[in-house]
Amino acid sequence: MANPGASTTIKRKPDIQHANPMAQTLLAKLDYDQLTNCMRCGFCLPACPTFRETGLEPESPRGRIALMKAVADGLMDPDQAFQDQMNHCLGCRACEPACPADVKYGQLIEQARDAIEDHAEHSAPIKGIRKLMFKGVFPHQNRLKWLGRSLALYQKSGLRKIARGTGIMKLFPKHLREMEQILPDATGKGVVERLGTVYPAKGEKVARVALFRGCIMDVMFADTNVNTVKLLSEAGFEVVIPETQVCCGALHAHSGEMDQARDLARVNVKAFREAGVEYIVSNAGGCGALLVEYDHLLSGDPEYRELGEWFAPRVVDVSKLLVEKGRIPEFAEADAAAAAAPVTITYQDSCHLRNVMKSSTAPRELMNQVTGAHFCEMKDSDRCCGSAGIYNVTQPEMAGQILEHKMEHANATNARYLLTSNPGCLLQMKHGIEKHGAKDRMEAMHIVDYLYERIGEKDGR
Ligand code: SF4
Ligand code: SF4
Repeated sequence: MANPGASTTIKRKPDIQHANPMAQTLLAKLDYDQLTNCMRCGFCLPACPTFRETGLEPESPRGRIALMKAVADGLMDPDQAFQDQMNHCLGCRACEPACPADVKYGQLIEQARDAIEDHAEHSAPIKGIRKLMFKGVFPHQNRLKWLGRSLALYQKSGLRKIARGTGIMKLFPKHLREMEQILPDATGKGVVERLGTVYPAKGEKVARVALFRGCIMDVMFADTNVNTVKLLSEAGFEVVIPETQVCCGALHAHSGEMDQARDLARVNVKAFREAGVEYIVSNAGGCGALLVEYDHLLSGDPEYRELGEWFAPRVVDVSKLLVEKGRIPEFAEADAAAAAAPVTITYQDSCHLRNVMKSSTAPRELMNQVTGAHFCEMKDSDRCCGSAGIYNVTQPEMAGQILEHKMEHANATNARYLLTSNPGCLLQMKHGIEKHGAKDRMEAMHIVDYLYERIGEKDGR
């Protein structure tokens, strides 16, 4: 069945019939206006991590746009090399703020991947895994909870120790084994199970807001969701957590499953519209970046367009909401008093939070307000860490190279705490710290957890 949100407004598309079916789909799905908006100035090149790593034009935003246009214009076929270039892109969107022509690169790469995926010939196991995860698990909160409970059992019952002892983990690639080591404790008890669907404001109410709890976030980082609600409450917000909300669809959109991403967006816009809130709060840059673009995602769907337009401008990152509207509580670093010296903290930007949600100063403002802490800016903190959704799983080599540079800069700060605003970045930072044997001197934390733990007088409900 045709997905009504799939159509895009394309004004100057060339009238070509491609013999190659994938090329025909690319022509149909790519926003040709955006392709022609690129004036090939190259201002985006220094901002692009894959170009910086390789120095190769096809690994740059300009190069990828040129490749897309060449296929759309019938000058080349979308061969394996073309598809590889599209997959090498981190989707970090650091190229967008650098672009004087306002080329919507993020939308182009998603359209390209969507078209490629329509014709992808995956092996049977990969097809099965994709179907299971994208259709069978991520959209269903109850199944995710079941998965969380199973994983928690594996982690806590000693099964993990046994699995590691038998050497079965050696069957997995090295980077997956390393990631398994730093997985946080899973749970089947998410934020609603622990706090209910409405959490009151402390003191006079500033506003009624809703938490976007995420899918993996509520299973692997449920404590952060709980701390987000409590931190917002301390700052004067009443927090609603709509139970019918689902996964944001970001992993689907980044993996070429745009129709499924739209289906999830439709569920979410309805769930949050019914909650009667002023803001929709995200604590994960990767999710928030898609949520703020629901208006674009649903622009071709007459039934949901208006809901998408209502939803998108209300999405805000937790740090930004606290700084701009909240009564910020006092934060204090207890260790500093004991050590009689400030504790050094640093921050790794979430690319999507910085480049798409345009929030980079608010987290820094909050960190600068912590008594007893010294905020030290890390070199290239605005550059991607290599996590990028599941990029560190699908492209481990490039992700590893990027992480090495990141850790050089992180180590140079001598920070005790390395803070982030996105679960993927957090895991990548933990991975880097582990690889560098720095666990005893540096800890990676979500900024919300760090701040909430440093509120002196709190309700503690
Ligand atoms: S999204 Fe990131 S990796 Fe991809 S082209 Fe833009 S800057 Fe480069
Ligand atoms: S900065 Fe923008 S216009 Fe210039 S090459 Fe990059 S994408 Fe094209």
